[in-house]
Amino acid sequence: MPSLYIHVPFCVRKCDYCAFYSQALVNSPKDLIYTYLEGLEVEMAKRRKDAPRGVSSLFIGGGTPTALKDTDLERLMEMIQRHFHLTPGAEQTVEGNPGTLTLSKLNILRRYGINRFSLGVQTFDDKLLRAVGRVHTAQEAREAIGRIRTTGFDNISMDLMFGFPAQDMATWQATLEEALSYSPEHLSLYGLMLEEGTPLYERYRVDNALLDQLPDDDLQADMHDWAAERLKQAGYINYETSNYARPGYECRHNLGYWRGEDYLGLGPGGVSCLNRVRWKNIEEVRTYQSRLLNGQDPVEAAGQEALSLHECMAERMILGLRLEEGVNLTSFRNDFGVDLRNIYEDVLERYKDKDVFIFQGDYICLNPKYSFVANSILVDFV
Ligand code: SF4
Repeated sequence: MPSLYIHVPFCVRKCDYCAFYSQALVNSPKDLIYTYLEGLEVEMAKRRKDAPRGVSSLFIGGGTPTALKDTDLERLMEMIQRHFHLTPGAEQTVEGNPGTLTLSKLNILRRYGINRFSLGVQTFDDKLLRAVGRVHTAQEAREAIGRIRTTGFDNISMDLMFGFPAQDMATWQATLEEALSYSPEHLSLYGLMLEEGTPLYERYRVDNALLDQLPDDDLQADMHDWAAERLKQAGYINYETSNYARPGYECRHNLGYWRGEDYLGLGPGGVSCLNRVRWKNIEEVRTYQSRLLNGQDPVEAAGQEALSLHECMAERMILGLRLEEGVNLTSFRNDFGVDLRNIYEDVLERYKDKDVFIFQGDYICLNPKYSFVANSILVDFV
């Protein structure tokens, strides 16, 4: 049974560091959301046959799903409910950003069964929020957290970032301590990335002096390590490289991706993978909608690929080894018909002396002391 992801590609305004596909509503024509929902409804009708027994979890992400108006949000929720059956007790998450969360939107989400909220806080420091072009303030984040709890959500995740320009350890610690004071069930911590093509990248490219403001690699590593230790003390499990949860609150939807389960990703830019075939939708909203209304697939020209056995196995290793639990040996053998110890014998041998990989029961996992350099090791499985 696949999981279901719905992409809502709209934000109030673009953040300066953002390389994700989303459109700024301040510059968009008024009918764009209507156009999006019209296309999405056709795609849902087309894709529901891929989930005949229902979907295991729902994640409505973006973009900023809560940037939709009440009526549009309600229409989106009603469409999902009409086209897809969610298994009883399924995790149902919506992402949102401070400044876009009203009580009425949160009540709509609750009424349609959303039971998990993921909030893009990033930092509780207004100066840092402004430095990377976030549209909201720290106070709006505090108010949003209060409203999410008031409407009855007992499963909240917060996204936090470290490595902002001119951020020091004390500011990072203050943000994490404030986040902990709200007792979130889940936290995702990411280092700020300078992605090519973003306004932030351009600013730093033309003004080298600005680069000195960025925390260097050592400070970023210290920020990461301090947070990992603090969260451990506070009872959180570091169940994936960047993700921490109270026991039982690991994000089931994302665990599905990391464990190599099938998923459907609907909406402009949505990515799906079913039975080892992966495809990506066109990003541009109007092209996406017009193709669907004309009975065509909304998939990018070179967007569909049948994954080879080798690619699927490599992906299982790379994603699975980011998890604390690691990769399940029996599932690997059942899914691919081979023992991973045989197929990756040379990689395992290469790192044997340094104890990079640990075998525990029916799992292989990455030794936590190498998690900060995981990418350079995991690339060997490609
Ligand atoms: S809110 Fe998220 S998706 Fe939207 S522009 Fe900012 S980083 Fe990108």
